[in-house]
Parts: sequence; structure tokens; C-alpha cells
Amino acid sequence: MPAMILDGRAVAKAIRESLRAEIAALPRPPSLAVVQVVGDAASDRYVRSIRTMCEEAGALLISRTHAATVEQATLEATLAELSADSTIDGIILQLPLPAGLNADAAVAQISPRKDVDGVTPHSAGLLMLGQPGLRPNTPAGGMQLLKHYQIPLAGRRAVVVGRSPIVGRPMALLLLHEHATVTIAHSRTRELGVVVREAEIVIAAVGKPGLITAEMIQPGATVIDFGINMAANGKMVGDVDYAEVAAVAGAITPVPGGTGPMTNAMLLQNLVQAARQQ
Ligand code: NDP
Repeated sequence: MPAMILDGRAVAKAIRESLRAEIAALPRPPSLAVVQVVGDAASDRYVRSIRTMCEEAGALLISRTHAATVEQATLEATLAELSADSTIDGIILQLPLPAGLNADAAVAQISPRKDVDGVTPHSAGLLMLGQPGLRPNTPAGGMQLLKHYQIPLAGRRAVVVGRSPIVGRPMALLLLHEHATVTIAHSRTRELGVVVREAEIVIAAVGKPGLITAEMIQPGATVIDFGINMAANGKMVGDVDYAEVAAVAGAITPVPGGTGPMTNAMLLQNLVQAARQQ
């Protein structure tokens, strides 16, 4: 039987619609400040997509763009100023920054209350402790998809491939909070196929097309693919060999149309949460 498709596009649309109703009931539209250092086309595309999402949902997007030659102190001053501004509910700093700028020092200037990307050490600490807080959007979106499709997690064996602070590592913690038995694999993991084949829930968060093959997947497993890669033919593909794996898995996210749209919807959800807490 072919795998059930976990349709992130449809689920994200439903979430955005329900958030639009919540936003309409707020005393004022929530405002998201996006701080960007120019020069990254992918970042420009992303900002355009979240601007459209904010406009459709009734939220405001305020863009603060710096030249590639910006001084660290100026960038940090922008973030500190937005953090202190009571008309701003959420702040995102577009990463990566050009060489020579210190991302950690810049992120440290974002008020944890406005950290709608869930990237500050404060948000990471709350996640680590299992306390309520603003979660990183991409793994939060993956969890929301699992929840929407009622994929059981408690007691299940999950393998997360990738351990970055914004995707793999927080995803592992979120699965752990739902009582999954979690293994994290990474570039030093030996016999990746053997490790992944243990999993009832497979999470791919690497950035390598075709890394996860059908032989690595146990029949009926749920596969969440966070990977975003451009194939030679210009098409977007994930980390999972989709055609082959879909024939073995029980449920799978497509790329595009799986975890990507969920990330944006979770950003809007975090913005509404931050606005309520202002
Ligand atoms: P990083 O490059 O920061 O992390 C990649 C991780 O994969 C690292 O932990 C690395 O291990 C691990 N890895 C690399 N090679 C292998 C291998 N051969 N076997 C096992 N593990 C390996 O990437 P990100 O976490 O930022 O992003 C991962 C993917 O998710 C990318 O494709 C990115 O574009 C995509 N992404 C998708 C989003 C979405 O909305 N769906 C949002 C954000 C990112 P090590 O730690 O040992 O180096």
C-alpha cells in the first residue's frame, strides 16, 4: 500500500486561516520585524513569502535591511532597539550573516519574549527543560504535522538524522517530550542505514538529496523530510529518495509541500503567541 501523504500545504493553510481569525480578535495587528543583511537571494525569497503570509493573515511585517558592510555594533543596535519597541511583537534575524559578523552576539540582542524563530539561548533553554516557550518553527511544524495526522509517538522509536540547533536537535527534544525513544544520527554516525532502520519515525534534517533510501526504512514507518535541496534539473527535493521510500513507508511528507509550508505557519503562530504575551 502506498504511504499516506502528510500534506503540509493543506495543514498549514488551515492553521493560517485559524490564526487569521485569532489576529482579527487582537486589540491591534501583531507586528513582525525582519532584520536582514542584504546579499542572500534565498533569504530575499523567504522574506517575500512571509510578507505575503503576514499580509493575508492581517499581521504587519516591518523590514529593517542593512548593507553587507554593516558593522556588528550597528546590527546589534537595530536588534536592541526593536527589542525595546513596544509596537513590535516578534523579531527575526535572517541567518546566515556574511562572514565577519557574529551571529550569536547579534541573536543575543533579541528579546526572548519576541524570539519568534525560537533561536535565542533562552528559548533553547525552555525547550531543553520542557517548559512552555517559543519553539523553532521548522521542528514545531514537523511536530504539528505528526499531531494532525495522529501519528502515535509515545513509546515509538524515532531516529532524527541531523543535529543542527534549528532543526535536528530541537526536533529530537520535541519528540522526547512526546515520550518517543529518540536517537540522533549525524555525520559521524556509523552504519546510518542500520540505525535508521530501527525507527518507526524517521526524521531527515541534513541537506543531502537521496541520503535516506528505501533500504533504510522499515515497512510502515513515518518519514518526515525537512531537507531542501535543488536538484540538477532545478527541482526542489528533500533528503529522502521520495519515490522509492513512499512505496515502503506508512506515511511521508512530500518535498515541496510537506514541512516547508508548516515552517511559515509556525512562525505566524509564534508571532500571535508573542503578541498575546506582550
Ligand atoms: P545543517 O547543515 O546545519 O546541519 C546538517 C546536519 O546533518 C548536521 O547535524 C550534520 O552532522 C548532518 N549530516 C551531514 N551529513 C550527514 C550524513 N552523511 N549522514 C548523517 N548526517 C549528516 O543544516 P540545517 O539543519 O540547517 O538544515 C538541514 C536541512 O533542512 C537543509 O536541507 C535545509 O535546507 C533544510 N531546512 C528546511 C527547513 C524547512 O522549513 N523544511 C527550514 C530550515 C532548514 P554534523 O553535525 O556531524 O555536521
